[in-house]
Amino acid sequence: MLSTLARITRPALQRCTSSVACQTIRFCRRPEKVLHPPPTRLTFVQLRGQQTLGSASLSVASHSVRHARALDEERLGEVEWEDGGQSLYPFTWLRDNCQCSLCTLQSAQARKLLMSDLDVHTDIDVVEVTNDSKLSIVWPDQHTSVFDAEWLKKRSFSLEARQAMQEELFLNERYYWDSKLRIPTANYQDILNDDKAALAWLVALRRIGIVYLKGAPAEQGHVARLAERIGYLRLTFYGHTWQVVDKYMANNVAYTSGNLSLHTDYPALHFAPGVQFLHCVSQAEEGGDSEVVDGFHTAEQLRREDPEAFHTLASLLVDFTDTGTDYCDFMLQSKKSIIDINEQGQVVRINYNNATRDSVLDLPLHQVQPFYRALKAYVNIMKRPENVVTYKMEPGDMVTFDNWRLLHGRKSYVSKPDKVRHLEGAYLDWDEVMSRLRILRNAVN
Ligand SMILES: [Zn+2]
Repeated sequence: MLSTLARITRPALQRCTSSVACQTIRFCRRPEKVLHPPPTRLTFVQLRGQQTLGSASLSVASHSVRHARALDEERLGEVEWEDGGQSLYPFTWLRDNCQCSLCTLQSAQARKLLMSDLDVHTDIDVVEVTNDSKLSIVWPDQHTSVFDAEWLKKRSFSLEARQAMQEELFLNERYYWDSKLRIPTANYQDILNDDKAALAWLVALRRIGIVYLKGAPAEQGHVARLAERIGYLRLTFYGHTWQVVDKYMANNVAYTSGNLSLHTDYPALHFAPGVQFLHCVSQAEEGGDSEVVDGFHTAEQLRREDPEAFHTLASLLVDFTDTGTDYCDFMLQSKKSIIDINEQGQVVRINYNNATRDSVLDLPLHQVQPFYRALKAYVNIMKRPENVVTYKMEPGDMVTFDNWRLLHGRKSYVSKPDKVRHLEGAYLDWDEVMSRLRILRNAVN
């Protein structure tokens, strides 16, 4: 089943700890004029994400405690590890996270200890290392806590350990790409039936932002089937799943045969869907090619080339709107930055759909022209041929992608009554996808 995944040439992948420093990943050059190059093979371990699953500082090799003592002045427990190095843990944190059955509900792995019962200035009576190399603490009220060495090590407060833990939990490292991307490709049936294949799919979806699936039946119902593999899909005003076809009196520009410029879906929702599935049930004979762009990579290009425009798009709030009737009637309004950045300045989400960008623009007069200039600069970068990956879906093909990161579009197509273009789509959110990824990782490892 592993052989059905497309290979991402490993040396071409560049590790990036910050999206600012991240370089474009140059994947295999696509042959000229080939819109959907045949996928090459990928083995499971070649997905770089796998390395993070057991990265050095969080290795599965068992740690054991050599020595422990209380630093009363600093109110810290100090643990010396058998394999060298030491870690410090605040008394309060240790007491708060006692793993005994009085303090923790084992069946839910949840804290029973109440904040009102926690002394945030607690002392320690006795600290010792048990015979099986665990950390044992007796508190002033004679309550005893025993901590597993492995558990403690993973929760070390050093910057390095915290970063490693966050990477293990969230897989925030991303691989940026441009038009030379060979979209990672997997087999739909393998993903349904095989945990390793499903894990590799989700890791690539997270790291690269797009995975192409071949081999689904060319009929409705399979985006929902795939969503069940993860958990559940995200209901929106367009329904549990939605049919992208040329519709009379369309309530969305997607439901026409016209060109769709690069966009993210649903910025009119404050919490836009994180992941999108699109399944080709039937394809137009002429046109209807799909386009995708790495919104994070192009945002970094904008930051380098036009920092002022980047700052404008990352700071100004733009109004989005969506009104109509589908699953039920709706009248949505939202305010979003085109580029969302986190506290560290890393790009974490793109919100842009020119069709639903509202004519209501809540900006003072002097910011209107700078806003348009900045948006035009970003869109011009997105549209550069060296940034756009183009492919044409065939019946049965499914594309799964990060809707917080990728911009997607399609070329106009010729609508014929006997050869209709029909894609079925569905949304999911990243919380559910990452939850399944962590469960699969535990199962596979
Ligand atoms: Zn306890």
